[in-house]
Amino acid sequence: MNVYDSELVAGLLQKCGYFKTEDIMSADVIFLNTCAIREKAEETVHNRLNNLHYLKKKNPQLLLGVLGCMAQNLKNELLETKPFVDVILGPDSYRRIPEILNDRNGLQNHQVDTKLSKFEIYEDMFPSRHEGVNAWISISRGCDKFCTFCIVPFTRGRERSRSMQGIIQEVEEAVANGFVEITLLGQNVNSYRTGEGKFHVLLEKVAAVSGVKRIRFTSPHPQDMDDDLLKVIAEYENICNYIHLPLQAGSNRILKRMNRTYTQEEFLILVDHIRKFIPDCSISTDIIVGFPGEMDEEFAETLMVMESSAFDSAFMFKYSPRPGTKAAEYSDHIEEEVKQSRLEQVIALQKRLSLQQNQRHIGKILPVLVEKESKKSSMKWAGRTEGNTWVIFDKTNEKPKDIVNVLIQDAQGVSLFGERIMEKELVHEIN
Ligand code: SF4
Repeated sequence: MNVYDSELVAGLLQKCGYFKTEDIMSADVIFLNTCAIREKAEETVHNRLNNLHYLKKKNPQLLLGVLGCMAQNLKNELLETKPFVDVILGPDSYRRIPEILNDRNGLQNHQVDTKLSKFEIYEDMFPSRHEGVNAWISISRGCDKFCTFCIVPFTRGRERSRSMQGIIQEVEEAVANGFVEITLLGQNVNSYRTGEGKFHVLLEKVAAVSGVKRIRFTSPHPQDMDDDLLKVIAEYENICNYIHLPLQAGSNRILKRMNRTYTQEEFLILVDHIRKFIPDCSISTDIIVGFPGEMDEEFAETLMVMESSAFDSAFMFKYSPRPGTKAAEYSDHIEEEVKQSRLEQVIALQKRLSLQQNQRHIGKILPVLVEKESKKSSMKWAGRTEGNTWVIFDKTNEKPKDIVNVLIQDAQGVSLFGERIMEKELVHEIN
């Protein structure tokens, strides 16, 4: 989402006559787009700002701004501790940028705008994207779920969806600019809805846009995963058979404390249901360990659900209290060493599960979207399967953005290794 927002801001800056420089010393304006989801992300921004302070001292005309969720969340702290920051804009205030740049010579004071909007979806603004394979397209902003650990509803405001027409126009524009994969984004992507329909209707419309080779979406909430959506994923060849399904925790008591609105049993049934609807569907997840009050036996349930669900991959984190959220106020926080030990356990388990899941592909021919040269050899390509797993294979006559068939011969760590199968060989094999 932050990549997308940075691209939106880059589009606005371009319209104002600014262009990107690789040489920070020559920049007239520097914006840091920030994330507040974990403490570590905030620390990174503080460190970066301290580093940028010397540029500001050298060049007082330099305009330095902090955008996004951290601006929203920590504006007072920033004003107090980093008075050299000129501009602080929350995620709903990017439209102020042209006016601020126009007036920059007359700027005497800090420009701060962190008002949250019930309506802002940047419908008429187009991002300036780098060349590449995948285009991120935001379809909604904000979130109404209020998980007790999460700062997003406070930094990004209430959930609102963009019009289907605006999204399709952006998809068409991305395809015209050479992008072949579209990733639809929302804090809670599958609760998207407008008068024209729910998320599955939008997905069908995107799938019908000529030139879209692959579609992904992130992040859905298990509660909003319905059969209409699964049917559409199963039906359209260009919608990847891949679902990111955040579990967060395996114990019902902890899920309730997190306000996740599903139980362990419902989650396991859903995983089963997805795999029946979409055979061989890859599923990834998010896990938080050491949520306040999580007991050893409750953590063991997270391990159990991970094992039963056989996730293909997982994003795993230690719980990090976010001031202002309900969970941060709980009194039974878990000690750092316990969190660390639990994190190591989930990582070790997921490593085994990922390898096991990847090994199931050995001997299969999978469509792979060629993305870039392998880091290890200029003679090899790296591309991804529908399930989002990297595949390394020898170069022949294909080029980036082609989808080619690769016979998977080996699985190591998180990557697959294989050999390109030409169309003729495929016909032969089928015969
Ligand atoms: S659904 Fe996701 S974005 Fe919304 S509150 Fe929960 S974790 Fe945060």
